[in-house]
Amino acid sequence: MKTDQARRIYGYHAHVYFAADSLEQARNLCERAATLFHLRMGRMHERPVGPHPDWSCQLSFTPALFAEIIPWLALNRNGLVVFVHPVTGNQLLDHRDFAIWMGAVRQLDLSVLSSTDDRNEAAMEFKDGD
Ligand code: ZN
Repeated sequence: MKTDQARRIYGYHAHVYFAADSLEQARNLCERAATLFHLRMGRMHERPVGPHPDWSCQLSFTPALFAEIIPWLALNRNGLVVFVHPVTGNQLLDHRDFAIWMGAVRQLDLSVLSSTDDRNEAAMEFKDGD
């Protein structure tokens, strides 16, 4: 990266947003992604959690899978909003400055995010790799 060569991306999260009427669609999308790409799927949160304004489900994956997952989500999200962010160890930067949105930009609650660097935690999350 030209702008910040010291900042390493340990992995990515794709948060699939949904509501009551799109829960099954979102669950299906996430389960298909998890199966196809052997990636980790979090719980189907039927309430806003953390900085997320909508119900959501998290997919996490290593940088090596980015070029496969992102196009697949683009072609298969079918109207769902997907929020993608890198995990560099700085939660505020990851969610605010490095955000990649599909479908819409939603307003996050950034007040719950830490702005201190914790690269050990980021490294730990993805250390088992894919
Ligand atoms: Zn995340």
